[in-house]
Amino acid sequence: KPAVPADIEIARQVDKLPIVEVAGQLGLTEEDLELYGTYKAKLSYDLWDRIRTRPDGKLILVTAISPTPAGEGKSTVTVGLGQALNRLKKKATVALREPSLGPSMGIKGGAAGGGYAQVLPMEDINLHFTGDFHAITSAHNAISAMIDNHLHQGNQQGIDPRRIVWKRVIDLNDRALRNVVVGLGGKAHGVPREDGFDITVASEVMAILCLAQDLEDLKERIGRTVVAYRYDRSPVTVSDLGVEGAATLLLKDALRPNLVQTAENTPAFVHGGPFANIAHGCNSLNATRHALKLSEYTVTEAGFGADLGAEKFIHIKSRAGGLQPNVVVMVATVRALKMHGGVPKGELTQPNLQALRQGMANLERHLETIHHFGLPCVVAINRFSDDTEEELTYIRRWCEERGVPAARTEVWAHGGAGGEELAQEVIRLAEAGTARSHFLYSLEQPIRDKIAAIAEKVYGAGRVAFYAKAEERIKACDAHGWDKLPICMAKTPFSLSDNPSLLGRPEAFTLHIQDIRPSIGAGFLVALTENVMTMPGLPKQPAALNMDIDSAGRVYGLF
Ligand code: ADP
Repeated sequence: KPAVPADIEIARQVDKLPIVEVAGQLGLTEEDLELYGTYKAKLSYDLWDRIRTRPDGKLILVTAISPTPAGEGKSTVTVGLGQALNRLKKKATVALREPSLGPSMGIKGGAAGGGYAQVLPMEDINLHFTGDFHAITSAHNAISAMIDNHLHQGNQQGIDPRRIVWKRVIDLNDRALRNVVVGLGGKAHGVPREDGFDITVASEVMAILCLAQDLEDLKERIGRTVVAYRYDRSPVTVSDLGVEGAATLLLKDALRPNLVQTAENTPAFVHGGPFANIAHGCNSLNATRHALKLSEYTVTEAGFGADLGAEKFIHIKSRAGGLQPNVVVMVATVRALKMHGGVPKGELTQPNLQALRQGMANLERHLETIHHFGLPCVVAINRFSDDTEEELTYIRRWCEERGVPAARTEVWAHGGAGGEELAQEVIRLAEAGTARSHFLYSLEQPIRDKIAAIAEKVYGAGRVAFYAKAEERIKACDAHGWDKLPICMAKTPFSLSDNPSLLGRPEAFTLHIQDIRPSIGAGFLVALTENVMTMPGLPKQPAALNMDIDSAGRVYGLF
């Protein structure tokens, strides 16, 4: 087994190119960039006008089976596939989300790919990067401050302080901030009310930034965002408070895609990072659109498994931006498939063909979903060092028998060279041009039918049960004219059902919809199957405990 050094060690060894040279691979010059040091840049606002009429390159969407604590490696495969396509002389770029400090300091330790398939400089990307998340945090909290000031100055809008739905945000996991009281201290200090914090990636501003086409669209979306309700139950928007201009101004640089590079100098756009549950979990539309105009192949990913990430990528992001994915890559691992076949986490290193066979049902279900969407798909078998030949061959044969292309992928251990087989399959499928992507529901359908379409066609649910609260919210959405929006499902990623312990391929289950939350600025209705945690906590041994920097500025503990 080749010993693969820690991610940060690999990152340190790589000869990074100045970002101007990386941009040169895309036909860009320094004029098209705003430099953030030597290795990071944002694209200029003028660039889009110059490239908008060009034809799009091929769009490759990386998704996965239902995730398990064993880890699947979507980001790693996305980066590695971009590197492999470049090795095969295709002009490729990758388009990824920006990591959030919350999970990085909690359990993830970073989220910039892994092994020899990373985006760099990872110590910047994983920390403050180009400041986008701070800008989003400030824009969000500026709106919060305006709401509380509005109450303090006489509440002309008649806002019901008990029905303010706009919380405050911070980009950390901090459970102590979930519920707070603001405005204490007497008359001079505002109007006391209950409030709370969400993590920045759960902010609607984040989802808006990731779906906005340009500054104008960004401002309009922020303006129509609902922040509270009046005593008469009518919605109060950001425009009602007059703060959409200031919030958009704070985002003027955050809206511009960030350009970095992979460990093999492939251009990489790392931009935006909305939650994959109460939001759509994809990098920014703006970055993806630029990448499509600037390269032959754009490899991008969507959060969680295909039931959530790919579904939202198509129904929300592609619909908002007119994107047409050409090929889907379905990441699967021996370990995760064994877990879906019933093996507990502690026993995954032992070979178990029987469990693997059973676990394939989860992959099968996700492949059916991609087929429903009309897209060609290749299975990327992301190899881990404990996988046996027998297990790897079993997956490949299983795919062959069903006419599904599959490729063993070793980009974590070998970089682009370990992804050439996958890249060849992707090129073959893309060039065959069989993608006929279509939606599984239309926006004109009633809200209940849209949810049922996802539940039945993507999850395999037998029926959908709506709680009284959800029924009530659907009526309110209809009354406010919000019924033509797409649905953003907030469901556990671990199961196709709403019960995280039902692994594999559950059948004929009931999906329970507890609540509907309108995200009018983002442009979707969030259907909650459970109470989603929008401010995570830290674990007992946070990754932050291993993080350090020495006197020479060398960074430790990011992975
Ligand atoms: P996802 O995008 O699905 O959340 P990541 O690509 O972030 O997954 O990978 C999760 C973790 O697993 C990372 O630390 C990554 O370095 C590691 N990883 C991914 N693929 C492999 C592999 N084949 N072998 C060992 N570790 C891997």
